[in-house]
Amino acid sequence: MAELKTELKTYDMYINGEWTASSSGEYFPSYNPATGEAWSKVAKGTAEDVNRAVEAAHQAFVNSEWTHMTYTNRGKLVRRLGELIAENVDELAQYETIDNGKLIREMRGQLNYLPEFFYYYAGLADKIHGYTLPMDKQDMFAFTTREPLGVVAAITPWNSPLYLTTLKLAPALVAGNTIVIKPSEMTSASLLELMKLVEEAGFPPGVVNVVTGFGEPVGETLTAHPLVRRVAFTGGAESARHVVRNTANNFAQLSLELGGKSPNIVFEDANPDNAAMGIIAGIFGASGQSCVAGSRAFLHVDIYDQVMERLVDRVSKITIGDPLSDSTEMGPLATEAQLKRVADYVNIGKEEGGKVIVGGEKPEHLDKGWYFEPTIFEHTDNNARITKEEIFGPVLSVIPFKDEAEVIELANSTEYALAAGIWASDIAKAHRVAKAIKAGIVWVNTYRSISPIAPIGGSGLSGYGRESGFDAIYEYTQSKVVWVNTSSEAIPDPFIMR
Ligand code: NAD
Repeated sequence: MAELKTELKTYDMYINGEWTASSSGEYFPSYNPATGEAWSKVAKGTAEDVNRAVEAAHQAFVNSEWTHMTYTNRGKLVRRLGELIAENVDELAQYETIDNGKLIREMRGQLNYLPEFFYYYAGLADKIHGYTLPMDKQDMFAFTTREPLGVVAAITPWNSPLYLTTLKLAPALVAGNTIVIKPSEMTSASLLELMKLVEEAGFPPGVVNVVTGFGEPVGETLTAHPLVRRVAFTGGAESARHVVRNTANNFAQLSLELGGKSPNIVFEDANPDNAAMGIIAGIFGASGQSCVAGSRAFLHVDIYDQVMERLVDRVSKITIGDPLSDSTEMGPLATEAQLKRVADYVNIGKEEGGKVIVGGEKPEHLDKGWYFEPTIFEHTDNNARITKEEIFGPVLSVIPFKDEAEVIELANSTEYALAAGIWASDIAKAHRVAKAIKAGIVWVNTYRSISPIAPIGGSGLSGYGRESGFDAIYEYTQSKVVWVNTSSEAIPDPFIMR
């Protein structure tokens, strides 16, 4: 494993197969959340850089080796990229941890699994087909094909840079598109490291491009660009609103993977040990900085004390500290602003009458870095702001309920609809509740499971569109219908009515 340099590392952008500085020549710092100190500097992209990248992606789409490559060969390239990631997991994981503060063992786990997404989509590359139509007209033969869209713009947040990029990159490429990626300004490093592997895999220039920088001007220019045909956005609702407005300019197709306020519902017949572990993994994994964070736990009154006791016991013992250490169980928050947001929400929760059962403070022994204790709030009602709004941090709200109808109403009383967990032995009840819950992903007796085979996405404030799974292929292709007249007869004069 290569040792990471401790002096400020410099990252340029990757456009048209070349490493390039920003047209402004400027760089901005990227911080290590475990120390609060800058560790690298990243090219500060401009509108001109975006235009250059989109133009390169457009040329690669309309007139390059990529345009004429067979789907099978595109699949082979995508598979090769997956293999290269598998060979570089340790190094990529270190970059992700240094840049976003997530645990090295979590990033290693995520990156070890990442190649599976590339292999899954590589396998689909030459199975993206249309069908023949059973026509209702004599002598007409018609069939459909699925075609790529063109230049895709991918915009990602800071919490899982490579995983969230992969969900866009792999299906976009096997479907034959080209792509311009704008990573979060907080976490550009691992994506730029990935570009070295894109180069090594042998993708033609312009097929994959990265422009680093801020929402304004990079994200704005990219999502409004007339040559962009699809925008895949993952992030917060405010930025998403800008993106929706921008795509009114270019009519690019759009998917929005936004936040959540996901419930974990524990029925009286659930296994309390499993439910407690699932709840903890759901909210304290990644320090709560996960779109599917299970930030609300609804516990049936008959099992409330049993589950609460287990939650308090395990959460009080969570080892918080250096994310690069293998013994750490919870790392820092990714940014200073995020730390402040979490602390502010905890104060709001207290003012609104929530009772802090565990945590609620910045840990005393960690004065450097952006750490916050894993925190459990107990609520007697479901109307507090912290039970409604996404915190994106390690804060769990626990709320009691008495019956199935009540918990469905409580769980659905949010504008988000991304994910939900149901813990129960009665499988009929689990199915009933899974159907009634507003969420794009429902886990029964498990939480936070992912697979390249399974789609993810939500509705309402959680956005729209689906990533992962076969559904994504439809998001990156459009159908074309071809009509063929097989008649040997002359076409009659169109102005003679028959
Ligand atoms: P953010 O919205 O601040 O930033 C996301 C990306 O959008 C960044 O790359 C940012 O530079 C860019 N951006 C900002 N303004 C823009 C603009 N005007 N035009 C175009 N791009 C712009 O989000 P964040 O703080 O980085 O991430 C946290 C949010 O992401 C949370 O709400 C979380 O729930 C959500 N998220 C959702 C999923 C999912 O799959 N549903 C996954 C991870 C995170």
